[in-house]
Amino acid sequence: DVTATKGTGFEDLDLKRELLMGIFEAGFEKPSPIQEEAIPIALAGRDILARAKNGTGKTAAFAIPALQQVHPALNKTQALILTPTRELALQTSQVCRTLAKHLGINIMVTTGGTSLRDDIIRLNETVHVIVGTPGRVLDLASRKIVDLSECPLFIMDEADKLLSREFTTVIEQLLAFFPKDRQTLLFSATFPLAVKHFTTKHLNKPYEINLMDELTLRGITQYYAFVEESQKLRCLNTLFSKLQINQSIIFCNSTSRVELLARKITELGYSCYYSHARMPQDARNKVFHEFRNGGCRNLVCTDLLTRGIDIQAVNVVINFDFPKTAETYLHRIGRSGRFGHLGLAINLVSWNDRFNLYRIEQELGVEIKPIPAQIDGALY
Ligand code: ADP
Ligand code: MG
Repeated sequence: DVTATKGTGFEDLDLKRELLMGIFEAGFEKPSPIQEEAIPIALAGRDILARAKNGTGKTAAFAIPALQQVHPALNKTQALILTPTRELALQTSQVCRTLAKHLGINIMVTTGGTSLRDDIIRLNETVHVIVGTPGRVLDLASRKIVDLSECPLFIMDEADKLLSREFTTVIEQLLAFFPKDRQTLLFSATFPLAVKHFTTKHLNKPYEINLMDELTLRGITQYYAFVEESQKLRCLNTLFSKLQINQSIIFCNSTSRVELLARKITELGYSCYYSHARMPQDARNKVFHEFRNGGCRNLVCTDLLTRGIDIQAVNVVINFDFPKTAETYLHRIGRSGRFGHLGLAINLVSWNDRFNLYRIEQELGVEIKPIPAQIDGALY
């Protein structure tokens, strides 16, 4: 059971009463293992490199110590939380707001694709915690609109993504705005070598937490079907009619395929939303928000939405296009089976993709079985 802990309660963690109220109102009764381990270490001021599987509560594991350490009376930004995608920033800020409900602190989310002017106006007021994506935060810091020179805490969620080549220069530039003695917390489910280089250079004797020993995709049943490109839609149609989908996310490998597939699904008579990086940000936000609120059963998207997104109602993930890397596979499939829930992952694999299938199975040490004629409803 991923939720099993040693018996520590949130009330044993020396948290402010107002923060405890927020935690309990969020419906959290006991800390998850990553929370139980990370919160006391973070509160002791240590840098942390924490690795734990998808859906085990990493957000609260860094949000709780961050919120505990903010002084509401101090008119300063006291924590920066970075995420690689805009949707994740939004979701993370919402978690922070829920937890901080009784703390009287101001949390702001700032991402690319939204009005910079609006952000500047909002930053006239005290903002204690900033949640954002790298480019926009760097922009605000460079213009001296956000002052990080006395910000004691820097958190990176999905840290390996933030430290991939796409972002490294931005991150390095951002670091220069912080005080030397800042505390840095890195969280992710995957930590390639690039992260090691970064931690050696920029972290201060980080405390390493690794809760990945248990099978990363436990609770998620994974199937594949060899399907030629021309037959994929027909196959999807069959799946729709046979599966008990609560909500599903269907992944394609490109923007154009997302739009095309979404149209086809609608033509088949199933409701679906779609989202990809070339859509305007407010449209993306709307889709994300409405999907999360159950406005629609199916969402077709690119890998834009793979990281960190937490929608518990999603019990089925379909790789309409099979991913190229084990890492992408892991993050996509991890969209179901959140926090101990069960999930089903179905991979449509074209003949050309079959070697990817074997390789990813090996790399992750998981078993992806051929799809049976009947799928047991109790598995998801
Ligand atoms: P991760 O970042 O590790 O993938 P999240 O932080 O997104 O996981 O959390 C996954 C889900 O678990 C969320 O829906 C969250 O509300 C829930 N959750 C987190 N901590 C607890 C807890 N202590 N008790 C109950 N539910 C929790
Ligand atoms: Mg997360």
